[in-house]
Amino acid sequence: MRTRSKLCAWVLLGCLPLPVQALSLFACEPEWAALARELAPEARMTSATHAYQDPHYIEARPSLIARLRRADLAICSGAALEAGWLPALQQRAANPGVHNGQPGMLFIASVVETIDQLDEVPFGAGDVHPEGNPHLQLDPERLRQAGAAVSQRLAQVDPDQAAEYRARYLRWSLAWQQRLADWQARAEPLRGQRIVVQHSTFDYLWRWLGIEVIADLEPRPGVPPTPGHLNTLVGQVESGKPLAIVHSWYQAPDSAQWLARRTGVPVLALPSTIAPDRGIGTPAQLFDHLLDQLLEQQNAR
Ligand SMILES: [Zn+2]
Repeated sequence: MRTRSKLCAWVLLGCLPLPVQALSLFACEPEWAALARELAPEARMTSATHAYQDPHYIEARPSLIARLRRADLAICSGAALEAGWLPALQQRAANPGVHNGQPGMLFIASVVETIDQLDEVPFGAGDVHPEGNPHLQLDPERLRQAGAAVSQRLAQVDPDQAAEYRARYLRWSLAWQQRLADWQARAEPLRGQRIVVQHSTFDYLWRWLGIEVIADLEPRPGVPPTPGHLNTLVGQVESGKPLAIVHSWYQAPDSAQWLARRTGVPVLALPSTIAPDRGIGTPAQLFDHLLDQLLEQQNAR
């Protein structure tokens, strides 16, 4: 729990209240930093990864350890997305407040239902996780649920401001639901379209939009595309007439481009998270951008 005692500084002017220290938030991925910014704009925010980095694999750098050490609340996707680096960060940060199970550690996948959960992982299945697909920021309804969970945790770690966090969440959620209705109306022409992907990064988005995935450039989840696997996809992609071959900004475009040259299906690189340097600074701007790109592709057919 945080204390917000007002300290006094004895200077010539007397006893002055020092400004209340801002809450320090650590997000594993930029989308959670952006979501938290909507709900706690005055908090100090840091994201361990950015849009051009694969969130499955990053290095537990000393600067990240220092930032996690100072955090009042850490927000991560969970479902083992960060299994390769977060445990090391938590251990080295030595901040008991952000250990698993503490109010200061929020895994979104533990409070929002994931898709593709498995009872057991078949041998040789690749990099699949029984906890389901962790890329749940790309479903706007789940993102709203994540907003509710973030707001509750903010209130838990900073109880003095609980009423404010609740009020801000209610305002944000109302505006979000209005946007959701607008997006759904705009996205209607995309329903029933087909797509080729590289990894399950956008699976929540495809489900929400009613777009069918007909092929994955990865031979098995998490295994990079191989020439042999790509060759087997050519006929399938040609006959399936998909809207595009999609890869995320953090993936190399080579495999998608190779398949595009062979099949004539265009490549579409999409951001899987916010990217303030490209004008995508909020979760709403991310969905606006994704819909713009997909609809542009649809109109160009
Ligand atoms: Zn993944």
